[in-house]
Amino acid sequence: MYIRRFILFFCLIISLIAPLILFANELIVKGGISIHEISEKQFYRDLSHDGVKLATYNHNNKYYLLYGIPYHSQIGRTSLQIKDDLEYFDIKFDIKKKDFKTQYIQVAKKYITPDKNDFERIKKERLKKLKAKSFWYENNIDLNFVLPVKGVLTGEFGTRRFYNNKEGRFHNGIDIAAKKGTLISAPSAGKVILTGDYYYNGKFVYLDHGKGLKSIFIHLDKILVKHGQLIKKGDFIGKVGSTGVSTGPHLHWSVTLNNAYINPLILTDKALIRHFSLER
Ligand SMILES: [Zn+2]
Repeated sequence: MYIRRFILFFCLIISLIAPLILFANELIVKGGISIHEISEKQFYRDLSHDGVKLATYNHNNKYYLLYGIPYHSQIGRTSLQIKDDLEYFDIKFDIKKKDFKTQYIQVAKKYITPDKNDFERIKKERLKKLKAKSFWYENNIDLNFVLPVKGVLTGEFGTRRFYNNKEGRFHNGIDIAAKKGTLISAPSAGKVILTGDYYYNGKFVYLDHGKGLKSIFIHLDKILVKHGQLIKKGDFIGKVGSTGVSTGPHLHWSVTLNNAYINPLILTDKALIRHFSLER
């Protein structure tokens, strides 16, 4: 009887601890997020790593630092020096191995070797995006994201991509295929920091959710918002299209945190929310 009770108790403890370990592990990968508890004082200071400001989060009177793990990080033990206005401190975490797929795509030659005029255009567009990348919007972030469009997931985050058999940039977001004209809604609240019709992106909306957490929605058929506009979660921001480098109507959605591309599905599959709701 005593042994049975002990086994039951043991199972209960394991079932309570296991999700915490599991969620923490699935988050600490390339394109994931590492979460670190900080003091209330630190929460109200500017925290940065390598000159890039970092996101903080407040939940149940506890304070956290959220670090977006760059795709090109080394696997294994990582130690980062964080600056907090007054002093330095280190955060340590173990980046777990995660395998990514490989994909071969054929695109028009003009996207591989743009001519001189197009090249000048690309340079200007890159500068505008770089500027938007550096914006800071002091807003309490809503991490409970929803998918911006209903459709079929046709492209995963982190895939190694070969364009016309030559390796290009990794796939830094997700692709959701849907009919041209399908409405796209904001996955979380934010402010429109840039819109445009660019060479590679086609028509796009760049949303700042606050504290360095940003989303970009590209290849749109139509943009439904204006620069500077404040957006609520669920508001329509555009329509699915196939503008720019695109092989068919779909939404490409990328998310960055401290300028590192992170997997948007971490935010929509509630991995972060589960993590925080299990923290006591
Ligand atoms: Zn894509």
